[in-house]
Amino acid sequence: MDEQVDVIVLGMGPGGEEVAGQAAAAGLSVVGIEERLLGGECPYFACVPTKMMVRGADLLAEGRRIPGMAGDATVSPDWTPVARRIRDDATDNWDDKVAVDRFEGKGGRFVRGKGRIEGRDRVTVGDQTFVASRALVIATGTEPAIPPIDGLRDLPFWTNRDVVKVEHVPSSLTVLGAGPVGLELAQVFQRFGSQVTVVEAAPRVLPLEEPESSALVHDALQHDGLTLQLGVSAKRAAQNGSGITIDLADGSTVTSEGVLVATGRRIDLRAIQVRNAGLDDEGHSIRVDEHLRAAPGIWAVGDVTGVGAFTHVAFYQAQVAAADILGREHAPADYRALPRVTFTDPEVGATGLTESQARERGIRVRTGLAHVETSARGWIHKAGNHGIIKLIEDADRGVLVGATSAGPVGGEVLSMLIVAVHAEVPVSRLRTMITAYPTFHRAVDDALNALS
Ligand SMILES: Cc1cc2nc3c(=O)[nH]c(=O)nc-3n(C[C@H](O)[C@H](O)[C@H](O)COP(=O)(O)OP(=O)(O)OC[C@H]3O[C@@H](n4cnc5c(N)ncnc54)[C@H](O)[C@@H]3O)c2cc1C
Repeated sequence: MDEQVDVIVLGMGPGGEEVAGQAAAAGLSVVGIEERLLGGECPYFACVPTKMMVRGADLLAEGRRIPGMAGDATVSPDWTPVARRIRDDATDNWDDKVAVDRFEGKGGRFVRGKGRIEGRDRVTVGDQTFVASRALVIATGTEPAIPPIDGLRDLPFWTNRDVVKVEHVPSSLTVLGAGPVGLELAQVFQRFGSQVTVVEAAPRVLPLEEPESSALVHDALQHDGLTLQLGVSAKRAAQNGSGITIDLADGSTVTSEGVLVATGRRIDLRAIQVRNAGLDDEGHSIRVDEHLRAAPGIWAVGDVTGVGAFTHVAFYQAQVAAADILGREHAPADYRALPRVTFTDPEVGATGLTESQARERGIRVRTGLAHVETSARGWIHKAGNHGIIKLIEDADRGVLVGATSAGPVGGEVLSMLIVAVHAEVPVSRLRTMITAYPTFHRAVDDALNALS
C-alpha cells in the first residue's frame, strides 16, 4: 500500500534532519528515511568525534610547549579518555535515540532503512512506499572514496567510519590523502605517539588552499615528526606480518601497523536511483538552483549538491530549502563567503576565493600577506605562534573576495573576514576599523596595510 505524506526526506544527516524538522514543526506530515543513524556523518563519524581527537592532541601539544615558557612538563599521551568521550559523550555508543526522539517530538515520522527513489514523488523502504504531495528532499551525503590501489580492498584499512571507534593508537600509521581530514587525523595520531606517514599524489599538503597555508602546515607537521611523501601515488598494498606495506609509484615503500584512507568523498547517484526521479545520474552531484530545487517538487541539500562538503553548508542549504518548501521568504543561496576550516595546529581558516581562483576568474587581484608570529600577540604567544593572514582584494571594486586566517585560533579569527567578504565591506572602510591590542586579529590590520 502506498502511503501519502506531504514531505519525504531521504537521508537524515545535518541537511536532511534540518529540513525534515522544520517541515514537521510547521505541521506537515513528514517521513525521514535513514539507513544508518539519524544525524548522519557529522555527529557520529566526522566533525564531532574528530574534533574531540583534535582537542586531545592540541592539549598534548600545549603541554609539550611548557618547557622554556612556563616550567617543566612531562606529557604521557593516553587515548582512553578520548575514545571514551567519543563513545559516551559524543555518540551514545553510536546510538541515535536522542535524535530520533527529538525529530519525533517535532511531529516527524522516522523510518530506518535504505530508501530507493521510485519516481518524482515516491520512495520505497523495504515493502513500504511513501508518496510525497509537496516535496521530495534528497540529502544522502557522501561515502568515503576508496582509491584504486591493488590489494587495498582486501586489507583491514580504516576510513573515517572506523577511525572514530579506534580504542588503541597504532605504533605506526599510513594516511592516504593530505586534505583536511587526512591531515587533522595524521597530526592527532602522531601527537598520541604513532609514527605517521602521509602519502599524497599532489605536490603539496592542503592542495586546495593557498600555497602559503600548505607551507605553514607542512612545516608544522614536520616539526611534529611526521613523514610526508608528496607528489607520489600509492600503487599496491599487501599484508606484511602484522602490518601493511604500501608500494609507491616512485619505487619506495611504507610499512605501518594501520592505514587510514582519507582520499576524498564519493557521491553515487546511481545507487540512490536519482534517474527514477528524472534527474541526471551521470554527474558527480545533484545540480540545484539557488533555492535548492533540483526539479519541480524535488529539492537536494548538503554534500550531495557538491557545493562544499561541510556541515554548515548542509545546514544553510536546508534552511533555504525548508523556506522554499514552506512558502516562506528567504534570500537565495549565496556561497561567496563560504568558510572552511582545517583543524590542524596551526588551524587553517579560509573564506571565498583563493588568489589563483580569483585570477582564473579574471579579477584584477591585489594581495596582502601578514605573519602572525610578528604581530604583538604572536610574539607574546611564542611557542606555536606560526600563522598567516592573506587577503585577496578585487582591486577594481576595492573589496575582499577571499581571505585566509591560519595560525592559533585561525578558524575563529576568520569570522571578521567572513563578514568582510560576505558584506563586501570596502577595504578603505576596513582600514578604519579598530582591533583590540594585542589580539591575533591585529594581524588582519597588518595584512590590510600590506595590500598592494
Ligand atoms: C572525518 C570528517 C570530518 C569532518 N569534519 C567536518 C568539520 O569539522 N566541519 C564541517 O563543517 N564538516 C566536516 N565534515 C563534513 C561533514 O561531515 C559533512 O559535510 C556533513 O555531514 C554533510 O551532511 P549531509 O546532510 O549532506 O550528509 P551526511 O551527514 O553524509 O548524511 C547523509 C545520510 O544519508 C543517509 N543515506 C544515504 N543514502 C541513503 C539511502 N538510500 N537511504 C537512507 N539513507 C541514506 C546516510 O546513511 C547518511 O546518514 C567532516 C567529514 C569527515 C568525513
